[in-house]
Amino acid sequence: MGTAGRIFRRCRPAIALFALAAHAGTVLAQLAPGEDATATLAWADANKTSDHRDFLETLTRLGNDSGKLTAAQLAHLRYLEAWQVAYAGDYDDAAPLLEAVVGGSPDKVLRFRATATLINILGIAHRYQEAFSRLTELTDMLPGITDPQARLQGLGEAAQMLATAGQYELAADYAERMIQSTPTGDSACKGTFIKLHALYLGKKIDGSDARYTKGIADCEAADENLIANSLRADVAETAIHDRRPHDAIDLLEKRYPAVLRDSYPSLISQVESLLAQAYWDAGNAEAAGKYANAAVKSAPGGDASEPLAAALRTLYLIARERGDFQTAMRWLERYMQADKGYLDDVSARALAYQMVKQQVVSSHMEADALDRQNQILHLQREVDRRAMETSRLYIVLLLTVLATIALWLVRTKRSQLRFMRMARRDSLTGICNRQHFVERAQQALLAAQKAGRPSCLILFDLDHFKLVNDTYGHSEGDWVLLRVVAECRDHLLQEDVFGRLGGEEFAILLPGTDEAKGSERAEAIRGAIAAPPPDGPSSAHVTASFGVACTALHGVELDRLLIVADEALYRAKEAGRDRVVVATSTEPVPAKETPMPVAPSPHLRMARP
Ligand code: GH3
Ligand code: MG
Ligand code: MG
Repeated sequence: MGTAGRIFRRCRPAIALFALAAHAGTVLAQLAPGEDATATLAWADANKTSDHRDFLETLTRLGNDSGKLTAAQLAHLRYLEAWQVAYAGDYDDAAPLLEAVVGGSPDKVLRFRATATLINILGIAHRYQEAFSRLTELTDMLPGITDPQARLQGLGEAAQMLATAGQYELAADYAERMIQSTPTGDSACKGTFIKLHALYLGKKIDGSDARYTKGIADCEAADENLIANSLRADVAETAIHDRRPHDAIDLLEKRYPAVLRDSYPSLISQVESLLAQAYWDAGNAEAAGKYANAAVKSAPGGDASEPLAAALRTLYLIARERGDFQTAMRWLERYMQADKGYLDDVSARALAYQMVKQQVVSSHMEADALDRQNQILHLQREVDRRAMETSRLYIVLLLTVLATIALWLVRTKRSQLRFMRMARRDSLTGICNRQHFVERAQQALLAAQKAGRPSCLILFDLDHFKLVNDTYGHSEGDWVLLRVVAECRDHLLQEDVFGRLGGEEFAILLPGTDEAKGSERAEAIRGAIAAPPPDGPSSAHVTASFGVACTALHGVELDRLLIVADEALYRAKEAGRDRVVVATSTEPVPAKETPMPVAPSPHLRMARP
């Protein structure tokens, strides 16, 4: 592993947080009146490294006045403070501060940047599993981040972390996205370096690839000399590998002073280690020894790295060639240790990456399962809803059918009743027609008989009615019929049965009425009909002839009573009309008790046929 993953960690100044506090002690400054804290924070953020002293002073000033800051400003300040702690190399202290910003900042860009910084320091601190967990969060946040600098930072962090885990192609993809996300006018040097180096480590390309030449030129043009030299290290390594040690020496010797000036220990150690190898391969043991020793000294303390292991190996080979086996054994031992430490670190990173990936996969699977469950629940609810709708529909349908049937029944019943009424009633007068009269009269006769009561049947026929029609017209005749019916009704009791037997012939059954009473009531009705007509549409005057037959003498058979009453009626006609004849068994036709009361008007004086 070369410089990938380290490029942004090159400076670890000795200024720790206590330095910040000491600084604050001397300058007890606060926010200037009317100062825009947001703008001050933005300035500090942009000048973190370029104007580090002012940056520190600004942090102190804002920190002294933190009560005046808004939640967003305070979160930004906390991020910069955490960044400063990390920058000072206090990774263990910086991690919780950055975690607080990640967990508590209202600004998602700030949360994103704090996550990226956190990943960086977790990586340096070899806390790989945490670093890769945070990386998952970072890549999840990435689509929502539009701020170009924050995106570049995040993409860069992702690319470098993936490269440290041996995920070179993925790392190259992220680096390519960095290149694509670089704002126009800015250099894509960092993205290009990470991409080429990842492809190099993944053995997709070697240092002779033409893209290196272009990448080096681009970085130099952007004044990114350290990165350009990091690219040259890959080119030199390829030359050594291809047994062109002099090419490597030419390339690196020229840059060595500049590399030293950049004072980035990892790169210095790498360049020195490569020079040692190249000189060794070129047969210059002295120069090889000088650079190998330098590389061992420059290697960042505590980190077992590939250049350190390579330098120790070169020192071992030199001592062995010299025949100094004791020294050779010492270098060999240290070489083996460094190589093992480096390889352990490589596998620790790869393992951590795989573990987090596994966790992510399983949590995705869990989320998928939950999602499926939710879908099923949703579908179930939908099915229930549909079922409810369907049953509601059925109920509505059923109710409609029932209502239709009920309506139909009511209508049928109504028309049935109408038809029944029509079948039972006389259409002109509304009283019982012949058939219905017979039915009801028979029932009434039986009921009276059961009750031991007598009944009488009155039959009457209008006198010379044909003449009324002929004289006044048929419609006036109808009116006369209606008047006669109305007169009769005035004389009827509740239980009496009244019917029109046909034409101008009517019958009345009087239940509970004996012969005397029957005769009396017939007489009363006759009188009412014969009375002069009241004022109305017709002045036609009519009389009627009555026959009365009672059960006491003639039995309860209606047919028999009708025949007997008809005979009596006939006799009343014969006797001169407008009179009542009560049927007795052998009784001769009675003369009217009163002499012919009103002489029928000449036009009515007609013989009964
Ligand atoms: P009589 O005294 O002998 O009974 O003589 P009449 O003219 O009443 O008897 P007839 O049987 O000769 O005539 C009955 C008449 O009653 C014949 C018919 O035109 C008339 N008539 C029957 N039904 C109706 C009716 O509904 N309306 C009208 N206006 N006339 C009717
Ligand atoms: Mg008549
Ligand atoms: Mg008649």
